[in-house]
Amino acid sequence: MAAETVVRARRAIVGGEERAVAVVVEGGRIAALESYDVPAGAAAVVELAADEVLLPGLVDTHVHVNEPGRTEWEGFASATRAAAAGGVTTIVDMPLNSIPPTTTLAALELKREAAAGQTWVDVGFWGGAVPGNTGDLAALHADGVLGFKCFLLDSGVEEFPHLAADDFAEAMAETARLGALMIVHAEDGEAVGECAHGAAYSGFLASRPDAAEERAIGLVVDTARATGGRAHVVHLSASGAVPALRQARAAGVDVSVETCPHYLFFEAGSIADGATELKCCPPIRDAGNRDALWSALSGGDIDMVVSDHSPCTAALKRQDTGDFADAWGGIASLQLGLPVVWTAARERGVPLVDVVRWMSTAPARRVGLAGKGEIAVGADADLCVFAPDASWTVDATLLHHKNPVSPYAGRTLTGTVRATWLRGAPIDLAAAPTGRLLRRTP
Ligand code: ZN
Repeated sequence: MAAETVVRARRAIVGGEERAVAVVVEGGRIAALESYDVPAGAAAVVELAADEVLLPGLVDTHVHVNEPGRTEWEGFASATRAAAAGGVTTIVDMPLNSIPPTTTLAALELKREAAAGQTWVDVGFWGGAVPGNTGDLAALHADGVLGFKCFLLDSGVEEFPHLAADDFAEAMAETARLGALMIVHAEDGEAVGECAHGAAYSGFLASRPDAAEERAIGLVVDTARATGGRAHVVHLSASGAVPALRQARAAGVDVSVETCPHYLFFEAGSIADGATELKCCPPIRDAGNRDALWSALSGGDIDMVVSDHSPCTAALKRQDTGDFADAWGGIASLQLGLPVVWTAARERGVPLVDVVRWMSTAPARRVGLAGKGEIAVGADADLCVFAPDASWTVDATLLHHKNPVSPYAGRTLTGTVRATWLRGAPIDLAAAPTGRLLRRTP
């Protein structure tokens, strides 16, 4: 690496609090944290502007890259450029929507081949648990996936079938044996109805009730308890499931939960007819539910906020007809997660330090990525320079993800990412990519 660098910030999020600091970088890692006032003797000194805060790079553990196989939806180059532009220095790629899905060692090797050399940020991988592949999980685990994803109802793509309750118990018994994390799309198929055709959001919302999440999360908790396995609920929307999760955790069940920027920003009552860019599963619910999600985050009952960046082509969003039954479900937001969550947090009086814990530290810790998610001695010097008071209006055509569809288009957000550093150097989207492919830290 180049000569020693010192990054000086009057405001930084370090060790769960905001303070002034001088970050000493050597060999891509944080070698020391000095007082801001100590004269820096380094070859290169970077001084943040007065309106900037230094954050650890964000860690987004829920990203659908879709390459290989559906690269026209999203690919490693475009997704990781979006990540870098949004202050995200590590993403973890979901095992489905690419073809083949990451359910075998051979498929994982194809993923790594597809990603190699074209990632602007670091990339880890989830394996997939599907009917009949329990025997593949140990090899995937040994090769460094960060855990396994499964569905408890139709995933939306035929090559990634869901697990029935008995298959789920079998898979979780194996992940428990391995000590691996099982992350679960928790909606109960029997509680989900047919979505009515048409442009009314209410028809889609009615087809995926709160009870679908609550029932499936009950199964996740019961199965984690019975197997002793480690479970994680992805993209929680229904706040009614929070008490059951809280009770399970209090009783020692190893279960964590995430929610997503769109559930914290939007609410069903303001979704316009035909706004299929907001179709996602589980759905965005009412304003009272959104308030309850914020309370659960602040109260520690929800651990983290990750994007569930799940793009597709513009045509598949069916913006021509606005028919919610026909549109693909998924929201692309990798580049916007921080300003979206911060915009809403700020209005609610939630401090930036909480946002950083939810979007960086907590996901890194839960998936076992040592050296990520914090500004600390020994950690990778992955940094985000954030201007929390700068407001700007989203132009979807300027976002880096592949298909310029965004429910945030035209919205004014507060907070902008001015620079993102990966292992001690600012990411330059005009230069060659420097991201690495990550394996689980043993
Ligand atoms: Zn997802």
